[in-house]
Amino acid sequence: MSNEYDFIVIGGGSGGIAAARRAAEYGARTLVIENSRMGGTCVNVGCVPKKVMWNAAQIGEAIDLAHDYGFNLSRQGFEWSRIKQARDAYVKRLNDIYKLNLEKSNVDVVQGTGQFIDNHAIQVDRNEYTAPHVLIATGGRPTVPALPGADLGITSDGFFQLESRPQNALVIGAGYIATELAGVLHALGSRVTMAIRYEKLLRSFDHTLHDLVMEQMLNSGINFLTNTNMNGLIKDHNGTLGFERNNGEQVAGFDCIIWAIGRETNIESLRLKNTDIKTNDQGFVTTDQYQNTSAEGVYAVGDVTPRAQLTPVAIAAGRRLSERLFNNKPESRLDYSNIPTVIFSHPPIGTVGLTELEARQHFDDDIRIYQSRFINMRYAVSEHKPPTLVKLIVQGPDEKVVGCHIIGDGADEMTQGFAVAIKMGATKQDFDDTVAIHPTAAEELVTLR
Ligand code: FAD
Ligand code: NDP
Repeated sequence: MSNEYDFIVIGGGSGGIAAARRAAEYGARTLVIENSRMGGTCVNVGCVPKKVMWNAAQIGEAIDLAHDYGFNLSRQGFEWSRIKQARDAYVKRLNDIYKLNLEKSNVDVVQGTGQFIDNHAIQVDRNEYTAPHVLIATGGRPTVPALPGADLGITSDGFFQLESRPQNALVIGAGYIATELAGVLHALGSRVTMAIRYEKLLRSFDHTLHDLVMEQMLNSGINFLTNTNMNGLIKDHNGTLGFERNNGEQVAGFDCIIWAIGRETNIESLRLKNTDIKTNDQGFVTTDQYQNTSAEGVYAVGDVTPRAQLTPVAIAAGRRLSERLFNNKPESRLDYSNIPTVIFSHPPIGTVGLTELEARQHFDDDIRIYQSRFINMRYAVSEHKPPTLVKLIVQGPDEKVVGCHIIGDGADEMTQGFAVAIKMGATKQDFDDTVAIHPTAAEELVTLR
């Protein structure tokens, strides 16, 4: 293996692998440096194992509904260890597939931690590798706060190591991961309490979404401790876990506490002090819109940059970068506007574009809201009646759709198609001109009045 490359990628996660394979497709001699399991966060401790657990939860909820549809069926226990084994085996298969795909694409792989010697020379153990183009795609890891006893809690990484289902879990945080993990645990039979700093979950999302998701989670039996700030975690003499509020009050009785309060970047190991690469106050590697860092010929994509922390975002930015560098497309870059996203909550949320608050501020109140709340036909024959809500935010005289928010069964699969329309600049009239598909929940979005 020669040590001189056209392109060195530090980090074999979503963004790094996508960029490396695309570069190699155009003949660039490419090296990926990865210090852990191939595939990064998404494959090993993120989207993939999370979605397996969410699917398990969905199946549990479908069994609960089965009786209303005439089946003599009820939950007969749930073997956490069985789904964990199957999930781990699936992730392992994906690790191998990623390795094989890199090999097939003629990308060299070095296992180890990449550290900058200078802008274009990277050390891994005792070897040095150089390239005119270097990509930082080192992603991030869960934040654990510097509070007494914080280590008594686990993070999403630890959640995926659990060998058995917690009986009584406390989830701390109010974002994607807290909402998703709390929902999964509850649906699989754990008692769940969420401790959040303010009144609502998912505060940065449209208010109709965070109101309804909380309403649903509360109705399903999840306990919320709102306005909760803590001094630290505690373990009592019985070995149960808890926390101390900042007024000194203690809340205990949990067998598992999960920190889900955001993520921080993997930059310490890179030895950026040897380079001209700049980071911001939060430790993100800053780039321009073409993913260029402050050091010429060094780029960054994905969670290590201060942008939407989503797998398809890292992949798209990485591929476009390689198109620019190695396929003579100087304007190739990712447009970060209107990124659709799904929260795999219970029920799921799909959203693209501006929230109502953002749209009001951005367009000086020149917006109109179309909204419908209804019960999905899935529950027509059931006493269980979880609501679905769809909402369009339109702007100006031509009623351009600037926000689309959906919460309810199927929102996860529905949002992608609507995101295409919105990216293309669809108006409310375009939605109205589209013939509905009946009977679905999605049709409500093209029949809003
Ligand atoms: P990563 O995938 O984190 O890859 C970075 C890689 O770099 C890692 O493999 C790391 O080991 C390696 N590395 C770090 N430092 C070095 C070094 N110095 N040398 C060598 N290697 C190094 N996104 C979605 O779109 N949908 C979801 O449903 C979703 N669910 C998620 C659920 C959870 C629980 C979590 C934690 C995240 C989820 N995400 C989801 C986010 C998604 O996983 C990330 O946005 C995505 O993985 C970021 O890709 P990346 O390439 O930037 O970094
Ligand atoms: P998020 O940024 O989504 O949410 C973390 C939240 O925790 C904050 O918004 C904040 O909410 C709260 N928080 C922050 N600090 C503290 C603290 N010290 N104590 C208590 N609460 C605190 O981070 P996550 O860790 O949930 O997820 C990281 C990223 O991974 C997400 O932003 C997303 O991009 C990605 N992801 C995507 C998924 C998907 O696509 N389905 C699923 C999972 C993750 P508040 O200010 O209201 O207290």
